[in-house]
Amino acid sequence: MSHQIDSKDASDLIEVRASDGKGLGVFAKCDIPQGTRVISEPPLLEVSLEDRDANKILVAFKQLPLPQQEQYLALHAYAAEGFKRGIEAEVGQLWEEIPELDRKVLSIWAPNAFINVFLLAARINHSCLPNLQYGWHPELKHQTFHAVCDIPAGTELTVSYIGPINGNKMQRQEELKDWGFTCSCVVCEDTPEGKEKEKKFDQLFHLETELVLETHIATEGSFKRALSVAQKMAAIQKSEGILHRELRIAYHDAGRLCMVLGNRKMACLWAKKELEVAQYCFGEDHPACKELAMVVDLLQEAMESNEPVNECIVKWCIITHRNEILEDSCKLM
Ligand SMILES: [Zn+2]
Repeated sequence: MSHQIDSKDASDLIEVRASDGKGLGVFAKCDIPQGTRVISEPPLLEVSLEDRDANKILVAFKQLPLPQQEQYLALHAYAAEGFKRGIEAEVGQLWEEIPELDRKVLSIWAPNAFINVFLLAARINHSCLPNLQYGWHPELKHQTFHAVCDIPAGTELTVSYIGPINGNKMQRQEELKDWGFTCSCVVCEDTPEGKEKEKKFDQLFHLETELVLETHIATEGSFKRALSVAQKMAAIQKSEGILHRELRIAYHDAGRLCMVLGNRKMACLWAKKELEVAQYCFGEDHPACKELAMVVDLLQEAMESNEPVNECIVKWCIITHRNEILEDSCKLM
């Protein structure tokens, strides 16, 4: 596994070329090992998240130097009906009445923004089983894309456009309508292999619901059940090659549930697994990874003692990447 510690990326290992039925795509020119920071790039078009609206996107575009405007305008454009209606409400004008260039700028923003629009990353296509994980690196002020597995030469690089992927096919396709395509990745394809994979995704979706419910019940018994669900999810994800952010979340849940149940040794083991995934997904130099590494060290120390744990560990237990928190249960620690 290789980890870069500066903003240097490995974009010389990739190329943009035609992807069957998907316009352009990004491909590995040679074998790319897990953990490689494949792309690290600043935004091409950046709009503050605060009060972000159509007008701010248009103003930001007009402030770009001409060459960057041209690069932006060469990206793929698509505006779903729902997006158009939202814009109409924001600008107080019918979509068709908005000047053509403005419509184009907005239609490029819609399917290309990973929070902001990044030139190279905008060419990366979606897969429900992606081989890249993206994330914002606050210190580099770059969006980074890391290989979550070893990627053989010639393979198309993919990310998941949609949030948590533990949804079933119907839910995923519904969400992907915003990008104007029907996913035909290895999980969605209508083949015996795809159907087998989809069964596992469906199972993960149900397990996640169960995990959230059990965590909400917040008794010792329900935390134990939630822990066994988190372990089961991690095992399925590993065996199905779901190695990105989702796997990190399952490890995180297993770790914090062990902590709540008073098993510091197991909490430390799960936290180490979480750290390993976070590092190959976001890079060792990512602030969240540095914090997590500290938590692992503190857990290691806490294993040997009965003293109350350090505040950083409590904070780590409360962080959730799902729709629930363990705040009350932390009193148990
Ligand atoms: Zn898919």
